[in-house]
Amino acid sequence: MRSFEPVEIVPGAYQIRLPLPIRNLDHVYVYLFCSGSDNLLIDSGWNSDECFEALSRSLQIIGLPVAELKKVLVSHLHPDHFGLVGRIKKESLKCRIMMHKEEASNIKKNRKEYSALMIRLHEWLRTNGTPQSEVESMLSNSLALARTFDKINVDEVLVGGEVLKVGSRWRFRVLHTPGHTSGTICLLAGAKDDDSSKMFFSGDHILPSITPNISLSPLYTTSEDPLGDYLSSIRSLKAIRASLVLPSHEHVFSNLSKRIREIERHHKFRLQNTLNVLNREDGLKGLTAYETASHLRWHGGGWSKLDPWERRAAVLETLAHLEYLKIRGLVAKVETRTRERKRESETTIYISSKRHEWLREECSEPK
Ligand SMILES: [Zn+2]
Repeated sequence: MRSFEPVEIVPGAYQIRLPLPIRNLDHVYVYLFCSGSDNLLIDSGWNSDECFEALSRSLQIIGLPVAELKKVLVSHLHPDHFGLVGRIKKESLKCRIMMHKEEASNIKKNRKEYSALMIRLHEWLRTNGTPQSEVESMLSNSLALARTFDKINVDEVLVGGEVLKVGSRWRFRVLHTPGHTSGTICLLAGAKDDDSSKMFFSGDHILPSITPNISLSPLYTTSEDPLGDYLSSIRSLKAIRASLVLPSHEHVFSNLSKRIREIERHHKFRLQNTLNVLNREDGLKGLTAYETASHLRWHGGGWSKLDPWERRAAVLETLAHLEYLKIRGLVAKVETRTRERKRESETTIYISSKRHEWLREECSEPK
């Protein structure tokens, strides 16, 4: 395994690179801020021996054993961000774990509860057109992940707007930025009396060249419109002036407002493409989210090149775009029921609103 040295971004602020077992995403960055005997770790990495060793080694280089970590803030409840919290807590009993209240309320008590949620999520994928054979391989991927499940106890629940202090040097303003998950948090960090080191921790919310997955699924608990939430969250950050933006993946960057404009364009383009696909491909019967996703272009390549994990993310992201269009009257949603060998199944179909109106007129009884 290649090991990476922690990078001291400015005095007392470190970027730590940790390995991930994910295709196309081989690392996550966690950030450590120190001042005197106080410290804050933002995110923890994946729950694996390899990741924990990399974290321990990096902290050792900085001169801070895991046992002396004081606070860990979890930006959101994804396994590459919260995975090691349980192990950290075992080594550093007084370490306080913080996260947004929406994420805290989504923590599962045990592996059984987590697996039940995964089964519900995959049933939802099937309702949205995913063929049974693919649902099974997606589900076995998710259930394999359940083996890394570790119960977390949260010591401090955040809602956004708080100011967190680390020693006499660091102040962090907590910003609630839903979209990627219901309770994603970003942080505006500033060193006392030093405007040049104003930094913005963007987590997965804003990344320098890729975009975070925005999914409509039973895991998104605050609204039916995660894409609408995401676009208003990123817009609310446009006025922030930070010399450095610290993301969870890829690399540190600086021009936050330019990146926000690029991401807005990306989603506008995808919304237009989604409508084009519906207008072009739905025939008269509409398309499921799975069928719509299979006609769109994805970061990992064409549909046939995506693995089950990537396809799952693509279908859920397409659903977020379809619901965004539905809420704004551009797409209609139809629930259909079929009966096969005594088994009733439901399928959700999307159809462009214009065509839907036309179909309704065609099908209605002449007066
Ligand atoms: Zn994430």
